[in-house]
Amino acid sequence: MTVPQHLLLVVDPSAGSVSNLVEADVQHPQLSVLDVAATRGDGIFETLSIGLGHPQALDAHLERFARSARMLDLPAPELALWRAAVLAIAHRLADHAEAWVKIAYTRGVEGQPLPTGWAYGTVSPDFRRERAEGVSVVLLDRGLRSDVSATSPWLLAGAKTLSYAVNRAALREAQRRGADDVIFVSSDGLLLEGPTSTLVVRRGDELATPPDSCGILPGTTQVDLFAVADQWGLNTAVVQLTADDLCGADAAWLVSSLRHAAPVRSVDGVAFAIDTELSTTMNEFLRARQS
Ligand code: PLP
Repeated sequence: MTVPQHLLLVVDPSAGSVSNLVEADVQHPQLSVLDVAATRGDGIFETLSIGLGHPQALDAHLERFARSARMLDLPAPELALWRAAVLAIAHRLADHAEAWVKIAYTRGVEGQPLPTGWAYGTVSPDFRRERAEGVSVVLLDRGLRSDVSATSPWLLAGAKTLSYAVNRAALREAQRRGADDVIFVSSDGLLLEGPTSTLVVRRGDELATPPDSCGILPGTTQVDLFAVADQWGLNTAVVQLTADDLCGADAAWLVSSLRHAAPVRSVDGVAFAIDTELSTTMNEFLRARQS
């Protein structure tokens, strides 16, 4: 039996040096009650998986971190510093087959010019059941058009902000409807993403996913899967998808950094076929990544 480790590094984002990592005790409060992360959810984050000490898709997560910072007009994060924080935590978690680290970067204490940052890591939950048996999903209207990124960039669609209250509310709504998870739909009828995952469907020998231009977070897990899909005899497509496309698909997954590939086993209460073989292949590949 392994003892979970909880690790926290407080990052001083005002300077770029790795010596600006301060180890902190996660049992003790670290965040000011005046930090806008706490009072307004005004900041960004990334959550990465760590397999036996290897942070997975680290470059892609750091790039997305920088992208989210730009979208929120935060000072550009010093990526070498954040990389060092992730690697320091990953190193300590190297005995664990699956762990994770979250990095967070906020606008800082109200009225002060310095951002706040921290990295936190621990052992992952056991996702074997979701990966094997799949998740039941409901389709929920997000209430935004699929061109929201272009028309209303201030809504920050597709940024990984600390304001995840809406995503969590959607998951509670799914539970009220007897389901495990959600696929958001735009008000003009396009499938978007899950509250913490990217939608991937298989249609024959093609894997398809909706485009980021629909106002969704560009998923790192989906990109890694699509990069190797040809080795599994599959083509890939980034295309707009509707609920009818999902119902007509051969299989579907919600993919994400920690849970990896969770097959969809029902949509709005209607049973959906699970592609067990491809699910296993995907999850073995995702778990084995060393970068
Ligand atoms: N979409 C949203 C809204 C998410 O929060 C996440 C991950 O948390 C994803 C998609 C999947 O992204 P990734 O595969 O990089 O974990």
